[in-house]
Amino acid sequence: MAVIDIVKYGNSVLNRRCSPVSQFSSIEFIVKDMFESMYEAEGIGLAANQIGLNLHLFIVDVTHTDEADRTHVFINSEILSYHGKNTLFQEGCLSLPGIALNVERPEKIVLKYQTIDQKWHKEKFDGLLARAIQHEMDHLNGTFIFDRVSQTEKIKYKKELKELAADSKNKQKIKNKSKENFVI
Ligand SMILES: [Zn+2]
Repeated sequence: MAVIDIVKYGNSVLNRRCSPVSQFSSIEFIVKDMFESMYEAEGIGLAANQIGLNLHLFIVDVTHTDEADRTHVFINSEILSYHGKNTLFQEGCLSLPGIALNVERPEKIVLKYQTIDQKWHKEKFDGLLARAIQHEMDHLNGTFIFDRVSQTEKIKYKKELKELAADSKNKQKIKNKSKENFVI
């Protein structure tokens, strides 16, 4: 197992819509790495593109609440319908360190998804689980929490976003440079 660095805002893998999972043979190993990486970063949800993988896959662990007694893996998911009231809740994001925004979302959803065994499920979720699922589904569609708030709310974090984007670009440059060094 391996802990993988969480990709931050500014890296283009977070702006693209992720491709469906069709090869399930290596998914178990990828999921293990994702859980390791998420726990290391102290998150409760993680999308595959947050560790640089273009796959329609995310994980959620809300076992610290009384909502769930097991972790969840969602593959090739689709939100079929939204239910209940829209509620405001403060969300943070592992790809946006230092930023927390009050995001409005429907409190309940019906989700169609696959598990590692390739079986399809259709299930209703609410509470923190429904919120985390919607947050991760946004990642797989290239959407950030600041896309869900007003412009005035987003402007408050202009400086942080600029710094994160610059940092991501520098990391990319260093990565490319180290690759060059290995060319023989
Ligand atoms: Zn996030």
